[in-house]
Amino acid sequence: MKHSPNNPILLTSSLHVDEARKAISQLVNELIEESQAIGDLADIETASLDQAINRILANDLLSPIDVPAADNSAMDGYAFDGKCLGLSDATVSLKIIGTAFAGKPYEGKINPGECLKIMTGAVMPSGCDTVIPQELTSTQTETQIEFPQNQLKPGENRRLRGEDLQQSKPAISAGRLLRPSDLGLAASLGISTLTVKRKLKVAILSSGDELRSLDQTLDAGSIYDSNRYSLTGLLNRLNLEIIDCGIVRDDPASLKQAFIDATTKADVLISSGGVSVGEADYTKQIMQELGDVGFWKIAMRPGRPMAFGILKPVAGKSPARKTLFFGLPGNPVAVMVTFYQFVRGALLQLNGANQTEPPIMQAISEASIRKKPGRTEFQRAILGRNAAGRPSVRLTGSQGAGILRSMSEANCFVILAHDQGNIAAGDWVDIALFDGLL
Ligand code: AMP
Ligand code: MG
Repeated sequence: MKHSPNNPILLTSSLHVDEARKAISQLVNELIEESQAIGDLADIETASLDQAINRILANDLLSPIDVPAADNSAMDGYAFDGKCLGLSDATVSLKIIGTAFAGKPYEGKINPGECLKIMTGAVMPSGCDTVIPQELTSTQTETQIEFPQNQLKPGENRRLRGEDLQQSKPAISAGRLLRPSDLGLAASLGISTLTVKRKLKVAILSSGDELRSLDQTLDAGSIYDSNRYSLTGLLNRLNLEIIDCGIVRDDPASLKQAFIDATTKADVLISSGGVSVGEADYTKQIMQELGDVGFWKIAMRPGRPMAFGILKPVAGKSPARKTLFFGLPGNPVAVMVTFYQFVRGALLQLNGANQTEPPIMQAISEASIRKKPGRTEFQRAILGRNAAGRPSVRLTGSQGAGILRSMSEANCFVILAHDQGNIAAGDWVDIALFDGLL
């Protein structure tokens, strides 16, 4: 059976966060299958390394060479034939006959009783399989070194040819969200461009009569539109194309026109506001005409109301594409939470990424936290270390869904599971960091 966002299961009074995520993933899969229906989703393009960060690699990147290309030294020290090593502490005495530098191999041969001064990365000279690091020698002169036989084993401190990567084997797999290390890895193979999935086109808009843009003055009861800026920041981390559709009034005709415009331009539309009880009614009506969109009550806090589904291609418009639609709640914190929970993973999946969910870790809660079973909560918190050096978290003050400062001061979410009750000080809790290292 084809998934429909209006599937009755999804309209039960409260939808579990995991069910919502599953339904989203299922619909995204269907869109990928009928790829052409959502524009040129399967298209690939070439990106130079300096443009490729956070793009999705389209094909396995095969290594054109062995890395390292030759056996080489892992340490600054002395290279020699490891046959002279044994278990006793008898002294090995070796004559230094030359030096091998990184990028300047030693051409001669090393005989038993001889060694070569060698720098890290220098090619191992013929006749040598072992390197004694400088600091492990007991005696060292210009011409001679000495060290106990049992100080190391044959083959130690040598990197083998092809140890990191073998020629023609995948160095990076298709679907990788490219990180700085991947760009460095490609460069180390002499590869200057990568084949990546095309950028997703993501439209954003804010809806609400009370919203003002930053160049306007605030009149009574109005507020600045902040959601488009936090969304832009979140989307910029994914190196995609953002189409800013601005602020749309709470008026059915304007909203309808904005949605129609998005279907001609964007693969995905993310709106904020206008899906809460009271406002959702006219949005629902427009959606019935334009697509197949479910209005969900998700058992989560913050972020309870959310609309999700498909906007159909508009007849006569070119290019005609289906547009994936996320109607996020208006509250500034709820926007960010629902983006992290539902939108980010869906965008990555739609763009062909093979890993879409951030890692969940654990930390000790410094204080008790009140929690009602029956909904998943995302509390904003600061991860640090307690006196014993263990990872610990404390919440960032007031947790209201509109209080963006709680998000700005935090560096992670504490995730309290659906069935979880109150947390006592000292309990371990799940956390998701806002920023990873790579
Ligand atoms: P709504 O979901 O439209 O009922 O909005 C919920 C709350 O979020 C209201 O207090 C709105 O004023 C606020 N809000 C909605 N959109 C934005 C926005 N773009 N920037 C800042 N606050 C917003
Ligand atoms: Mg509103």
